Amino acid sequence: MDLKQYVTIVQDWPKPGVIFKDITTLMDNGAAYKYATDQIVEYARDKQIDLVVGPEARGFIIGCPVAYSLEVGFAPVRKEGKLPRETIKVEYGLEYGTDVLTIHKDAIKPGQRVLITDDLLATGGTIEATIKLVEELGGIVAGIAFLIELTDLDGKDKLDGYDVLTLMSF
Ligand code: 5GP
Repeated sequence: MDLKQYVTIVQDWPKPGVIFKDITTLMDNGAAYKYATDQIVEYARDKQIDLVVGPEARGFIIGCPVAYSLEVGFAPVRKEGKLPRETIKVEYGLEYGTDVLTIHKDAIKPGQRVLITDDLLATGGTIEATIKLVEELGGIVAGIAFLIELTDLDGKDKLDGYDVLTLMSF
């Protein structure tokens, strides 16, 4: 299946000059969403994954059906102030300024093998921060899966040494 036909290109959103890749038109097509999920499940199948971890909000959309299919749990990575119990946090750089991502301190047990999921790899900042959270809790990043990689932004350079799957490149 050619998944790219289900991604809608939105010019100048959320601000002028940005070409946004809208994946909602992939998600709302049952066959395309299932196909994309199955590709990631097949990639992860032999990696002895114990837990899937994804950053809000689109990392949940990708990661939860994968976790269900692998019959493992899912742990959310969220912006600061959203998780109710004790968290660890990491600050990461945005184009302008910084942001903070958090995870519950007990979400991962040391030695657990983790699959990280998100919809899209751009600069790699979000995923780099997510990796830091997983590793700080003693998790092993056994794989990282994205629907989309924006190749111009060289986000993959930040993922050197990790096992990465991307289903589409733009
Ligand atoms: P990065 O941290 O790699 O620069 O940006 C990736 C994050 O921003 C991902 O969590 C992703 O959801 C979001 N993102 C950035 N650009 C796009 C885009 O064009 N389409 C979608 N769907 N998400 C984007």
